[in-house]
Amino acid sequence: MRNPRSMSRATGTRFASNWLGPVLFAGLYGGMAALSLATTQTEMGIAIIWPSSGVLVAGLLLIGTASRAMLLGMIVPVSVLVNLAFGASLGLALGLTLANVLEGFLAARIACGANGKCGQFDNPQWVLRFAFAAICASAASAITASIAAGSLGDPSFLYSWFATVLLGMLIVAPVIVSGVRSFSRKDRAKIDVTKAWAAGVFALLSITATFAQTHYPLLFLPVVATVLLTFVLGVTGALIMTCAITVAATMSVIYGSSPIAFIPGRLEQIYFTQFYLAMIFVSALPLAALLARSRSQMAEIARRKAQHDAAQAFAHVGHWRYCLKTNTSEWSDGMFAIYGLDPRVDPARNLEHGSIIEEDSEAVRAVLERAVIDRQPFILEARIRTQSGEIRHIESLGDVEIEDGNVVAIFGVLKDVTAHVAALQQIEAEKERAEALADKSLRLSETDQLTGIANRRKLLETLDREIARTQREGTDLSIVMIDVDHFKSINDRYGHGVGDEVLKHIANLGSTALRRGDLFGRLGGEEFLAILPSASPRAAMRIGERLRRKCEDLDWGKIANVEGVTISLGVARYQFGHDETSLLHAADTALYFSKGAGRNRLTVADQTSPLSEGSPVGVTPR
Ligand code: GH3
Ligand code: MG
Ligand code: MG
Repeated sequence: MRNPRSMSRATGTRFASNWLGPVLFAGLYGGMAALSLATTQTEMGIAIIWPSSGVLVAGLLLIGTASRAMLLGMIVPVSVLVNLAFGASLGLALGLTLANVLEGFLAARIACGANGKCGQFDNPQWVLRFAFAAICASAASAITASIAAGSLGDPSFLYSWFATVLLGMLIVAPVIVSGVRSFSRKDRAKIDVTKAWAAGVFALLSITATFAQTHYPLLFLPVVATVLLTFVLGVTGALIMTCAITVAATMSVIYGSSPIAFIPGRLEQIYFTQFYLAMIFVSALPLAALLARSRSQMAEIARRKAQHDAAQAFAHVGHWRYCLKTNTSEWSDGMFAIYGLDPRVDPARNLEHGSIIEEDSEAVRAVLERAVIDRQPFILEARIRTQSGEIRHIESLGDVEIEDGNVVAIFGVLKDVTAHVAALQQIEAEKERAEALADKSLRLSETDQLTGIANRRKLLETLDREIARTQREGTDLSIVMIDVDHFKSINDRYGHGVGDEVLKHIANLGSTALRRGDLFGRLGGEEFLAILPSASPRAAMRIGERLRRKCEDLDWGKIANVEGVTISLGVARYQFGHDETSLLHAADTALYFSKGAGRNRLTVADQTSPLSEGSPVGVTPR
């Protein structure tokens, strides 16, 4: 169900917005017209200024396009009645009313265009357009009124009508429109109250001093006050002053109380005053509009700069410019932030000197010099010392500025990349750590725990690779298999620990007896293997024999507290068709032969039948 109350409220609001505006403006129009006619009647019956014209135009500009016709319609009876009341005939009253309605319609139509959209009086272009509209409308009104009054041949009537209507529009309409709009606007600009008061007092004094005496021609004073008030209060100041001066000047002409009274002749006084008011308007409102525009542009620039600074600070970015002519630098706030400086207190530093740490300053200078010589963009990386002494990494991208063929400045964008560099360093450190760890684990996986030499895995892997290489390159490859003699009895006699010591000593012997590129490792238990790439059986025999002798000659009693340790060896040479297993088997067979022949000796496997059981060819005599 619909709520009848809310419906009536809605209807009421629509009534107010549709009717209230036209009614208010029509009333104000009538009041102003009556007041003007009553107070400022000259011998021609026309005032200095016709404020009603301004009221009508203001009303038309302020109310919606839909209500404009209504306002114009309401003006007709009001205007006719006022004219009748002040002695006009019905015909004249109707004619003059037609002139007034026409001028309002034309002014609003020309100023706002076909779409009815009105501008603001702080927009210089709109002020010009409005002034043009007012002139056209006033001219049309003056012609219409002259016809109605039968004074078409009288240029002074034509002029007076034109001037009063034009001044009414130019002075009154902007005051009402701007006043209403500034009251309904929430984002009113902040005003310096002290300055406003000072300017207001000065304005009041200057108006009083000018228009309340007839001795001194001080008409320039209100102009100065207008400029002052315009500067402090903007468009509002200009409008208030124009209005106040209009009232004061009009009153002073009526009562003959101002320096305008110097001018002989009442009509001339009126013309002078009109000209004076027009001059005040022309000097005040366009100036105010220009000022307002430049202030709003300044505010926009300040807003954008603040955003830009905030973005730079957030991104740890700044920009700089170094002027080669003056040797001075300009810095953005972002630069100051990176350096930990206060832009309001500290001067911009020269990037090249002072802030770059000593180790990097030469390189920076070189980059900048090269950029100037080559006239090319540049990238530089350096470390800076901030105000607090902290070292930070920066990166700057820039270019040179060329004017009339000469490099006049260098500019650049600078970024604090400390976090990035730290992250990179951390990644690098992590990588090195991981690599070291991988190396270590690989070494561990290839190392025999007890002796620290290559283990079985490493030995077999190397053997595999060397066999492949030998096959590929056709070089020699020999291996020597070594087994400790009667090791079980060493363990049994001296204990497992001593056995371990013996194994370590033999590992050490093997490692030191070999050439570079050879590999000595532990196959398991008390068995060792030497892989000797590029070694002939004779060379392998020599190496094995040297090892055997060294082991035999070692002072085992001294180093391990055992009576003596010997080893038996079996040498095998790679032959075509050998693989890892068969080559090892050949060496093992030769070793077995050494054992069988009494131990502590070396046997070289039969070279002619590699895949056979490996009959030994040489036995080291013992
Ligand atoms: P042969 O001269 O015939 O080679 O006799 P052997 O006693 O050396 O040979 P055998 O294979 O009978 O014994 C090897 C011994 O080596 C058996 C085992 O206890 C011992 N052994 C194997 N690995 C280790 C080790 O890591 N440390 C110690 N202390 N002994 C080990
Ligand atoms: Mg053994
Ligand atoms: Mg043994």
